[in-house]
Amino acid sequence: MRVLVLAALLLALHSPCALAACATSSEPWRGVLYDIDTKITLDEGPSAGSTYVPFADGAGVHMYADANLVAEQDDNDFSAHTAVHEYIHLLQQAMLAGEITNATVGPVALKATSTSAVRFKCINKCGVPAVFCEKSLAVLEALPDTMKLLDRTMYVIWYPHSEGGNEPCTDTDAKKVEIMEEVYGSTCANGEYVVPDIMRNENHLVAEGDAEYWALKLTDATNVFSVFDGAEYWEGKVRDGKEGCSIPGDAKFDVRSGSADHVDAVIAAYEDADAPRCADNPIGEIAYQFFLDWCEANAITCTQAEQFKVWTQAPLLGWCGAFEATYGKTWGEYVCAMEAADAYDVDTGCVAADVPCIACSGPRCPGATSADAAADAAADASAASARSGGAAVLAAVLAMVLAASTW
Ligand SMILES: [Zn+2]
Repeated sequence: MRVLVLAALLLALHSPCALAACATSSEPWRGVLYDIDTKITLDEGPSAGSTYVPFADGAGVHMYADANLVAEQDDNDFSAHTAVHEYIHLLQQAMLAGEITNATVGPVALKATSTSAVRFKCINKCGVPAVFCEKSLAVLEALPDTMKLLDRTMYVIWYPHSEGGNEPCTDTDAKKVEIMEEVYGSTCANGEYVVPDIMRNENHLVAEGDAEYWALKLTDATNVFSVFDGAEYWEGKVRDGKEGCSIPGDAKFDVRSGSADHVDAVIAAYEDADAPRCADNPIGEIAYQFFLDWCEANAITCTQAEQFKVWTQAPLLGWCGAFEATYGKTWGEYVCAMEAADAYDVDTGCVAADVPCIACSGPRCPGATSADAAADAAADASAASARSGGAAVLAAVLAMVLAASTW
């Protein structure tokens, strides 16, 4: 008996499972480690973000803390609303992936394999001031139950800002692996690489406006802050955004389907005209402000719950189908109303039926076949190949294999 136990122990020690780490040579973990590396080294500057892996045991948002800003102000909430903004992006992605199919069931219990037993947790490996973590957790925990829709811990990962007065993070190569293992577990179990790309059904224009508007509105509603004013902050952003994009009166503000490609085309048009301040987030915020005004003028209910309904239905009906099913008007009617409004004055000749829609993508779309899914996956793989060169052959093979299984 004793010999058997010893043999079993030796087997366990030498089995690949007992020694496995996260498989960072392939997706999705290669991408996750890349995200953490980009954020911890400030490779793209201090820009917050989210990393979502469908069905994983944790999720994370990347945040920057500026040690110069440790007093609450009417425009300083210690980045707490930005943590909510990135959290909303995680929920949007989980809805596009089909992981969250009903947004009225919160709070969703954390699954047994969640890498922590608490819903929200900070990771502060680089020594940012503790107030950033405290305030963001206070706001996240005070969100309504209808926002608590993930079945795993959501980590708020803090990095020092690049402004003078902040100590840069050290030993980042070791810390990025530690962060990855804290969020997803030492073997990164359960995460899936989903193809076709769930982001094909994303309306990028709405994603940004939705995330920022509701992040500020929800942060105000928590009453965690007494000085910070989210409503005023939003008004200021819309005012600045309209100024940067020369709205009203600029025909370049042609958002079309709202896809990432169409938003990129708007950005490029402004850059070509030497007006670089019209970027992703202002474009989405200006458009979302009009959306809210248009809802009110047309007596349409446009709450956060309705917005979530559109995200959950987009992979089933396509963005335009989900929009019309939720609001009773078409995407084209909204876009044309914005273009024609005096406060926007983009193009009075807009025809609703001619505004393009993001095509529904994935096996849950009406009439989808497995051949469509395989073709979409192959297209994603070749797009990945164009971006990343060498690693793409494996990605293409993997994509084809996964396309044959259920999504
Ligand atoms: Zn965003």
